[in-house]
Amino acid sequence: MSTLKAVRGTRDLLPPETALWTRIEETARRVFARYNFGEIRTPVFEDTSLFARSVGEETDIVSKEMYTWEDRARAASEKAQSLTLRPENTAGVVRAYIEHKLGETGQLQKLFYIGPQFRRERPQKGRYRQFSQIGAEVIGPQSSGSESPLRDAEILEMLATLLDELGISGWTLHINSVGSSADRAHYNEVLRAALVDLAPKMCVDCQRRAVTNPLRVLDCKVPEDQPIIETLPKIVDSLDEESKQHLAAVTAALDAAGVPYTRNHRLVRGLDYYTRTTFEFTHGGLGAQNALLGGGRYDGLSEAIGGPKAPGIGFAMGEDRLVLTLQAQEAAQAEKIDAYIAPLGESLNPAALALARELRRAGLSVELGDGSFRLKKSFEAADKAARRIVILGEDELQSGILTVKDFATGTQTKVPRAELAEFLRKPGGE
Ligand code: ATP
Ligand code: MG
Repeated sequence: MSTLKAVRGTRDLLPPETALWTRIEETARRVFARYNFGEIRTPVFEDTSLFARSVGEETDIVSKEMYTWEDRARAASEKAQSLTLRPENTAGVVRAYIEHKLGETGQLQKLFYIGPQFRRERPQKGRYRQFSQIGAEVIGPQSSGSESPLRDAEILEMLATLLDELGISGWTLHINSVGSSADRAHYNEVLRAALVDLAPKMCVDCQRRAVTNPLRVLDCKVPEDQPIIETLPKIVDSLDEESKQHLAAVTAALDAAGVPYTRNHRLVRGLDYYTRTTFEFTHGGLGAQNALLGGGRYDGLSEAIGGPKAPGIGFAMGEDRLVLTLQAQEAAQAEKIDAYIAPLGESLNPAALALARELRRAGLSVELGDGSFRLKKSFEAADKAARRIVILGEDELQSGILTVKDFATGTQTKVPRAELAEFLRKPGGE
């Protein structure tokens, strides 16, 4: 008899890895609570038409990735129905918002979810057929402030905080605006015109997209097409004044809060009800599947599935990819030495050697920099070799209190010299 195995693209999660999943979920719940989000749990399967109408017929998800079946009627009172395992959770949340008339409360709804999603994709590292998403939606009638750029900025600031608290270092926030549906229609035509000459030099998918939905050319991952895509007109030049101001207000609030971001002109969503802000957080350690999370504004979604006007914004993060990132970070940390000593100026070199001797004699692995290095160079060298950097300047020498930075968490701590060896012995990253 052949042995039965977990279905292709699905996995068993076993201890000790499950402890990491629990830690991620607990951290997410803690952060969501601080921002006044409440949990929503929607069914794992829904009527197929919900996804067709919300995610959109021409997306990869709906056109080829959904697990759909005909549910036979079991009694005369029942109807046969086409059902689908949810490929994402925004559609279910907005359906529930409409079904339970949450808009009639007049309050902004701030809802988060954690749970499995299903897509029939080609399985590879970071891409599975059953995967878990942690996501949230902020949705409500216009009078609740749901359209305000402050909502966008607050969600992005929350995500930056969440990733930091999870201990994920080195993420990049990409942000763009796709404007109003009129802006997008205009941009689609601008792209279509630009692609007439260019598309024949591109991949077959792009040749098709250039005709059916030019916007999606920007999503192309084929390396040879990238230089061509870089020359295409940018959507920002097709935005109306209101959309431009909305985006400017989002970035101004991010600047004020000190959240770093980069403008990415290629970040678009191909669907009609997506409006204005789109964003993605990526991480270099993930390889080809480098998106940790994606999201954006969907001011027209509720109406597209038969509900009242209810502007909203949300995101979904791939929990599997968070786990992979944290595991890779932990493995990299484990290979590093305990500390790198950076003397600030050549006059401190002798004192740095004395400190290195002290720590090495205490059994720690230590790399000694040089006072002639600029601080930036010391930090780069230290980050490659060690879990922490110890800064030794004139002040530190006089006071006997050293500045230590942990690379995994980015936190800086003042440590008395007598306690330094003990401090550096801790694994770090916490
Ligand atoms: P990708 O470009 O990687 O296919 P996507 O645009 O299909 O991503 P979304 O639908 O926006 O992704 O989903 C949000 C997040 O969910 C992604 O950023 C990713 O982290 C995660 N995700 C999506 N599909 C999968 C999958 N098949 N396996 C694991 N995680 C996934
Ligand atoms: Mg995908």
